[in-house]
Amino acid sequence: MPEAVPAVPGPATGGTDHPAPGKVVDAVVIGAGFGGLYAIHQLRTHGFSLRGFEVAGDVGGTWYWNRYPGARCDIESVEYSYSFSEELQQEWTWTQRYPEQPELLAYIQHVADRFDLRRHFTFETRVTSAVFDEEIDCWTVTTDAGEQVRTRFVVTAVGCLSSSRVPDFPGLDRFRGRAVHTGRWPHEGVDFTGQRVALIGTGSSGIQSLPLIAEQAAHVTVFQRTPNFSISGANQPLDPEQVRDVKEHYAEYRAQARRSFGGSMIRTNRVSVFAVSEEERRAQFEARWTMGGFAFMAAFEDLGTDLAANALAAEFVSEKIRQAVADPAVAERLVPTDHPIGSKRICVDTGYFETFNRDDVRLVDVKQTPIEEITETGVKVDGRVHEVDVIVFATGFDAMTGSLLAMDIRGRGGLTLREKWAAGPRTYLGLGTAGFPNLFTVTGPGSPAVLSNVVLAVEQHVDWIVDCLEYLRDEGLATIEAEVEAEDAWVDHVNDAADRTLYKQANSWYLGANVPGKPRVFMPYAGGVGRYRKRCDAVAADGYTGFRLAPPGGLTGTEPSEADPQPVGILAGS
Ligand code: NAP
Repeated sequence: MPEAVPAVPGPATGGTDHPAPGKVVDAVVIGAGFGGLYAIHQLRTHGFSLRGFEVAGDVGGTWYWNRYPGARCDIESVEYSYSFSEELQQEWTWTQRYPEQPELLAYIQHVADRFDLRRHFTFETRVTSAVFDEEIDCWTVTTDAGEQVRTRFVVTAVGCLSSSRVPDFPGLDRFRGRAVHTGRWPHEGVDFTGQRVALIGTGSSGIQSLPLIAEQAAHVTVFQRTPNFSISGANQPLDPEQVRDVKEHYAEYRAQARRSFGGSMIRTNRVSVFAVSEEERRAQFEARWTMGGFAFMAAFEDLGTDLAANALAAEFVSEKIRQAVADPAVAERLVPTDHPIGSKRICVDTGYFETFNRDDVRLVDVKQTPIEEITETGVKVDGRVHEVDVIVFATGFDAMTGSLLAMDIRGRGGLTLREKWAAGPRTYLGLGTAGFPNLFTVTGPGSPAVLSNVVLAVEQHVDWIVDCLEYLRDEGLATIEAEVEAEDAWVDHVNDAADRTLYKQANSWYLGANVPGKPRVFMPYAGGVGRYRKRCDAVAADGYTGFRLAPPGGLTGTEPSEADPQPVGILAGS
């Protein structure tokens, strides 16, 4: 007989690593990346019993899988790191401005060891379903190993860019060479020495990997459908003086990042691009270009909201591309023309455009003449087969919803999340969705996570969720569930916030545009992390306005949500 389901989350003492089989745990956490690890840490610290599941063989999430050459974060290392432990942030010393994947993975492994988090996870195990039983307010989580765990709460921390995607090219299975996806890179690496390589995709992953693949390979053919804006990261080893300064003032810097739009210390120049002379404008763009990375889009306050302002920034970057690429015809094909700069996530590169000056690198445009098929020996475009030994798919992800909907999640009345989100994801605050009590999504659609420094975002989400669980425990409540009205209002607000920006003017993964058949819905919240945090805090302080809280076996309503503050809608900066 399985154990009876306790009415409210367990006692405030002693989380265990693997509760006895059949025991109902307080929470199941899915995913062992930045989000899942922190969720486990916080839930345990606050005395909740738990289990964690992870598909991969170890911790790391994104940084476990994305091991391709050149994989590097586009947020600065001193910011893209946990802030919850002062000891941790003082002990750990980053070596580079933008951390490379091995350093990031080493950091995450260090965190897992330091806080003894691994023992709560079952690795190499995929959660296949989570089904809510409304009679007893309990979820049953099932894994591909056949294990079933009953839990009061489910916390998904499955990542927004974890469901890697290879387009459905005809003939894929016929290719006799090696095919790899950047988001599922072989652990042993890929030796490109002497190889002819096809690189399909010119998003962040393709742009980061090309220079390193080209250095090793005999020849690389880059298949580009849409050129992207990319800005040099101006990566460099970190100056020990700067590291000392950051460590000394971490509390202040983190507080600033939490209040900002993008969750970082980048400061937006609060001046319109039209308010300055052409000379000043150029100087400001040049200064921001030299800083490197996302700081560029914060050169003026209206680059993310005003198309004419944006066009000036786009022209500046286009000129940089023309200067970097020796062949004018190739340069012109690399200049983006179909979307405002920043409306797709800006790429941050190291020598991407210059790589096209190599004799052994060729650009093939597949916009007008798409890839027809993969043959036994290569990639066929416009009737011609480009013969290669290796195909690198840098073709992206079924972002934000892919990994959530891969699980069979069933809420009240057997409603599946796939059915509920058939026309696009609907959440309240990106944290919960009506009809699915006690299910929390870390960095869920409707949250600003992917438009920001995601580590800061996961800390905020997890803190909010764990505070909420404590509240329920203290109040003797069994369930929390988003109200439909609050969810509808939030979805409207997410759309309004996006409408105030230029984000919807690109065919990006933010809109699901990269996956044929996926509903075209702008999924992240573009109102900024500072504004979002305030809203989440206010909801909690008001007794979880817009959520329905219920004691064991019953429902009690809360007041409807208040009108939401208006977004400012910029692409970057504080
Ligand atoms: P992505 O931005 O979605 O890029 C996928 C690329 O594949 C695009 O160039 C796309 O062309 C191309 N593609 C897709 N289907 C195709 C087809 N059928 N034929 C030809 N080309 C096709 O994916 P990603 O580069 O992996 O990056 C995804 C996100 O991950 C980034 O935006 C970023 O947020 C994150 N990321 C960050 C870093 C970093 O921190 N530096 C590094 C890598 C990734 P279209 O544009 O025409 O669709």
